[in-house]
This record gives sequence, C-alpha cells and structure tokens, in this order.
Amino acid sequence: MLSISVKEFLIWKKKQLSKGGDLQSFAVLLDCIGGISGYDLNFLSINPEGNLHIKKNLDYLESIWEDHIFNYSPIQYLCGIAFWRDLKLKVTNKVLIPRPETELIVDIVFKIFGKKSEKLLFAELGTGSGAISIALALAYPWWDGIATDIDQEALQIAITNYINSCKQSNLKFYCGDWWTPFESFKGKLDLAISNPPYIPKDTYEQLPKQVKNFEPKIALLGGEDGLNHIREIIQKAPLFLKEKGWIILENHFDQGEKVKQLLIENKFKSVKIVNDLSGFGRFTIGRYK
Ligand code: GLN
Repeated sequence: MLSISVKEFLIWKKKQLSKGGDLQSFAVLLDCIGGISGYDLNFLSINPEGNLHIKKNLDYLESIWEDHIFNYSPIQYLCGIAFWRDLKLKVTNKVLIPRPETELIVDIVFKIFGKKSEKLLFAELGTGSGAISIALALAYPWWDGIATDIDQEALQIAITNYINSCKQSNLKFYCGDWWTPFESFKGKLDLAISNPPYIPKDTYEQLPKQVKNFEPKIALLGGEDGLNHIREIIQKAPLFLKEKGWIILENHFDQGEKVKQLLIENKFKSVKIVNDLSGFGRFTIGRYK
C-alpha cells in the first residue's frame, strides 16, 4: 500500500477525467487496480484533508487509463473485472463483457417464475463469463442449471466466476456447440436461455473500436442477417424443453419481430417481445406448446 495526500489524488483524478472516459469506468479502475472503492471516493470528495492508501502508484494507474482512452481498450479487460447486477466477474478477451441490458434477463425469469420453490432445470447456451447462469443459480439455489460454451477458455472463466461467487453446486458447465452437450437432457428442461451472437455481418463491420477490436468475434457475429445462431437454437429447442418449458432469448434491438415469427413457426406459444430499458425489443420469450 502507498500513501498519498487526498488533495494530490483529487487533482490527479480531475486531470485523468479531463482526458476523456466516464466516471463509472474510472471508478472500476480505482476499485479493481487502485483498491479505492466507490464508497471511499465519495468520502474523499467531502473530506479532502489527510492521506489515502492506494495499492498502485498514480503513474501506473494513469498508464492503464490512457490505454483505455487512447487505444479504446475496454476498462473491464484492462482491469480483468466486470460488475454485473450484484456480481463481480472475472473477464478476459475470451468472453464478452456482460452488458447492462442483459441484466434484465434475470428479471424476466423472476417475472415468469416468481419465487417458486419447486425444483426446476434451466440451461444456458453460450454462457461466456457465466453471468446469467450464476445470477440464476444464486437466486434459485434449489434449481439446477447447466451452461455451455463452445470455447474451453471462456468456460474456464465461467467456472472460476461460479466458484468465486458462491459455495453452491447447482450449476454444471459443458463445453460444446449450442445444444450438442445436452444430448442427455432431451425433454427435461423447464427453461432455456441464451444471449447468442446476433450482430448482422454489415453491422459487425461498423461496430465501435472498443467492441470490434477487443471483444471476441465469435460471441458477437450472427452471420449475414445476425440470426444464424438464434435460428439453430430455436429449431432444436423443442427437443430439449419439457412441454410448457420456456425459452428466453436476447436479440439485436431490431430483431424482435423476426425472432417472434421463428418461435411461432416452431410451435411456441405465449410468444412475446420484451423491451429493454431503452425501449428496444431486446428479448423474445415463448413457451413450448
Ligand atoms: N449487445 C452486444 C453488443 O451490442 C451484442 C451481444 C451479442 O451479440 N449477444 O455489443
């Protein structure tokens, strides 16, 4: 731990923020690398006297901040951490940085299932950092969950996040492509969830640098119209879901109607498009027969 004056720190902080970036990203850097929490930060602003303890020197923190500002590196990859709902997750460039809009998937599950105490089986296809499955395994410790990812390195990160987040053992991880690892779960799922790669090819080419240059293409690109993976997931879902089992999919902001049609064509009922907090039809849900 290093000790510096709060006044010096506050001047330095102002200088860093004047270079660009947002306070939230800066707070992630200070918390994860500097060891200064959001709570400490608020306290310092109203008590600028005295000294503060910091884990790394200001030059080091500044070099990371400049990498973020000038090279567009996502702060979460630089710090190795992403905050999502109430989870603190390890992330590397092998996994997509879990997005705030995706947090709503967990609320959709709460809305459908409430706090039902029966034992249910859920599956997540393409878990990445494990965010969704871990949040569900924690919220429903009496449920069982199975989660896949095609990338062994991504899966390892999800497993680490699960171990770090709780001491439970109600979530299992499998490596493989979409439904492939779930052969033995045919007809057994109460709920299937996925936030698959859904960005259309042309849109992918235009993505901001901080996404396109750093995040895994395999987790973003959904083929020509963005729907390749969503189609595959929906077409095979009836084999794996129980009768009246639910599916919840995240899609691109403008794909809701198309995903709804795909679900209807594959015999899903109660199909609905659910808006994200910006009012886009970001999720599509349905129930198998
Ligand atoms: N929402 C992500 C983005 O816009 C895409 C995530 C995905 O393809 N599943 O970058």
